[in-house]
Amino acid sequence: MAFSRRLETKTVQKMIMLYCNEMHGTEKNELCAECSDLFKYAKQRIDKCYYGDRKPVCSKCKVHCYKPEMRKNIKEVMRFSGPKIFLKSPVLSLRYLYRKRFKSNI
Ligand code: SF4
Ligand SMILES: [Zn+2]
Repeated sequence: MAFSRRLETKTVQKMIMLYCNEMHGTEKNELCAECSDLFKYAKQRIDKCYYGDRKPVCSKCKVHCYKPEMRKNIKEVMRFSGPKIFLKSPVLSLRYLYRKRFKSNI
């Protein structure tokens, strides 16, 4: 898998983890069944993305291949964890944001 997709998968995983730990009361580095399904789904979408290695970050995608329920869930996670992830993983966040800002022009 290309570096950018690995980075996005890692960032999404951290965001879901943060959301699950705080909203669903799970232990650090653990996911509840629902969040685990959401992560598996997001990872699968990223791995099989229609754009291949020219993939934009999903939040900037015009196609958006997520099914409605998963899209709603991932948006909720992003809204909650987006601002917090800076404090938890600043380097990862900066890399992700750089890619989101400058590399996602499709
Ligand atoms: S939402 Fe867009 S960028 Fe993300 S996996 Fe689906 S098609 Fe690819
Ligand atoms: Zn959860």
